[in-house]
This record gives sequence, structure tokens and C-alpha cells, in this order.
Amino acid sequence: MSLLDTYTVYFLTLLGNLVMLLMLVIFVKTTSFEGLMQHYIYGKLLQTIGAALGLFRGAVPIDFSIIIGNSVIFIGVALEVYSIVHVDRVPLKSVTRRWTQVVSVIILVFTFIYLAGVNMGHRVFFCAMILALYSLTAAAGLFFHSAATKLRKTLALFFVFLAAHQVIRALDGLLIGESYTLFTASLLQMISFISIYIHTLVSTMAYLLMTREIIDIKLKETATKDYLTGIYNRMYFLQLSEKRFSLLIRQQKPASIFMIDFDYFKVINDTYGHIVGDKVLAHFSRETQGIIGADNLLGRYGGEEFIIFAPNTTAKDALILGQKIQAKLALLFANDVSIPKYTVSIGTATMVPAILTDMDNLIKQADKALLQAKKNGRNQIVQAIF
Ligand code: GH3
Ligand code: MG
Ligand code: MG
Repeated sequence: MSLLDTYTVYFLTLLGNLVMLLMLVIFVKTTSFEGLMQHYIYGKLLQTIGAALGLFRGAVPIDFSIIIGNSVIFIGVALEVYSIVHVDRVPLKSVTRRWTQVVSVIILVFTFIYLAGVNMGHRVFFCAMILALYSLTAAAGLFFHSAATKLRKTLALFFVFLAAHQVIRALDGLLIGESYTLFTASLLQMISFISIYIHTLVSTMAYLLMTREIIDIKLKETATKDYLTGIYNRMYFLQLSEKRFSLLIRQQKPASIFMIDFDYFKVINDTYGHIVGDKVLAHFSRETQGIIGADNLLGRYGGEEFIIFAPNTTAKDALILGQKIQAKLALLFANDVSIPKYTVSIGTATMVPAILTDMDNLIKQADKALLQAKKNGRNQIVQAIF
């Protein structure tokens, strides 16, 4: 069975690589993604050059073609894996240095093996095993990433398959040994070339999908979160709360809104400066999020005003939760002097299914209650009564 000769398949593989490269360059030119895309492109370019040297073996001196060709491929694949593993953050210099050291050792060992006269099959064994290790590194980097998404886990599986394929190729080289030639018309060889092509195709698509995913996650973060405190911004908080609010009304369940405003925040700014003021706001957000848990939504309503939406919370529960926030903050300052002491005033309003089922009105009532808390002398909770 020979539909295409191995030369043609090899040539098509190279052509495929070039087309992929072109796609990547277009992507880089048309998006704002920075990351390690340049490294990935250089990696692919080096792999293509290395493979092309294999195609022109004979036209270029054989030693040069083998040593340089393979070295270039080792560097190219390393760059590809490096870009995949560190796709969302440029790694520390020390990490990059370690990658460089590993690749240098691989190239030195390969050159030594070649110069020592090890036969082609055994050299294929060495190269394929290295490529298998590269693939496993990519798989591990994707799978064990702290933010491993479904996409990354699926890609990790793909790299495991690639590694398995390389191991088979390695064993084939080990068994054939001396009589192994690059363009032997064997079925395995044909499958090898095709799988290199599929590798390029999937890996590049995967890389683009991953970058797209990272851009999407970042965009969603900026659109929904407050930059300073990391909690929901006003717009997204209201969207989320409205959705839950209407569900609770249908279920005839209670919900409460808390409006929170710092007491004499201008004094904190004037005394310690705006940077410390910012830290205080971030501190409050972190602590309050911890106190109220994940079921209740916390948002930054304005400058030093915060808002909580507490589902399934009656007026009585709201008072308890508000007191808990104030008590915990007071307790914190007794033990921690790293942040200026501050207090907050809280106004709450609770939904009454038959009377008050309008979110805007609920916020208005909580705001009024907050104003009353300020008037009463601050550092306290006032509940709106209907
Ligand atoms: P009151 O007890 O009456 O609320 O007094 P207050 O000083 O807190 O008064 P008000 O709520 O009117 O003041 C808000 C201040 O918060 C004014 C503004 O400079 C400051 N502020 C608003 N946003 C930020 C911010 O993002 N960072 C910092 N550091 N300060 C902010
Ligand atoms: Mg204030
Ligand atoms: Mg205010």
C-alpha cells in the first residue's frame, strides 16, 4: 500500500508547518496577545528548518545536515513546549536558564552519539525518546497547571498520545538499527510523518485556543471585577444580584441588601495617604468576603462604599451577619497593627415578598438606613423598616 511516497509526505509536512507559521504570524499581528507567542513561532520555524535540512540531505553535507538539523529541531520543539507550559506568564529568568541548560545537554549528547558512529536506528531511538519526554513535559505542564481548564486537560491528553507514538517510533528505530533510513517506505515511517503533521496542526490550533481562552478570561475579569479590590464591580454585582433576586421572589424566599460605607475615610486618606487608603479598601474586601462566604455576593458600589446581596437572609439574619462583620473587624485590629484601624456603618433592607420586590427600591431603602446609621454616630447597623 503506497498512496504517496515518503518524500512527498515529508514535503507536505513541511508545507503544513509553513502554513501554520503564517497563521500564527497573522494572529500575532492582529491581536494584542503578548505572552510567549514569539517563542512559539520561532520554535515552529526552527522545526521547519531542521526538517527541511533532512529533505535536502545529500544536497547539503550529511554531517552538517544531521547534527545541525537535529539540534535545530531539539531547540525548536523545546521552544514550543516552553511556550505551551508557560503560556499565560513569562517565566523567571532562572527557569528559562534551566530550559536552555537541558536543551544544550541534549544537543551535546546527540552530537557525541553521532560522532561516535552510533547507527541511524539507534539515533532515531534517542531522538524519538527525547521528543517523547518533551511531549510529556508539555502534558504535565498543561495538566498540573494551577488553573488547568478543560481545554488544557484535553490538550494534555493529546500530548500523552504523541509521547506514546514517539516511544513506538523509538522502539522501531532500536529494533531496525543499522538498516534504518529516513525515507524507508515503511508503513510506520509514513504514519510517523503524518503524525508529525497532525502534531503541528493540533499543537498550533491548541496554542491559539489557549491564548484565546486566556484573553477571554482576562477580558471577563476586567469587565466584572473591581481592579483595586478584586471583588465584583457595581455593574456585574447588580447583574448577578438581579438574577438571583428574581429567582428568590419566585421561590418566595427572603433576601437582604447591605450598604456599607467607611467611617471618616477622608481622615484615613489624609493621615496615611491614598496608597494606604487603597490598602484599607482591599483589606476590608478580603476580610468581608471571608466572613460572608461564597453564597453572599460582595461588590464595590462606589469609592469606599460596598454592597452585599445575601440570599435566603431574613431581617434577623441580616442583623446577625452585619454584627459579625463589625465584630470580626474590631477583633482583627486588636491583633493586627499593620493596617490603620477603621470602622464601617451599615444599612440593611430585607425583601418582603408581598410588599417589597423591587431590587432598586431595596437598595434605596438600605441606603436610607445607612444614612441613618451615619446620623446616629457611625460604626453601627441600621435596618430599614417597612
Ligand atoms: P463618612 O463617615 O461621613 O462617610 O466620612 P467619609 O470621610 O468617609 O466621607 P465620604 O464617604 O464622603 O468620603 C469618601 C472618601 O473616600 C473621599 C474619597 O477621597 C475617598 N475615596 C474614594 N475612593 C477611594 C479609593 O479608591 N481610594 C482611596 N484611597 N480613597 C478613596
Ligand atoms: Mg465614608
Ligand atoms: Mg462614601
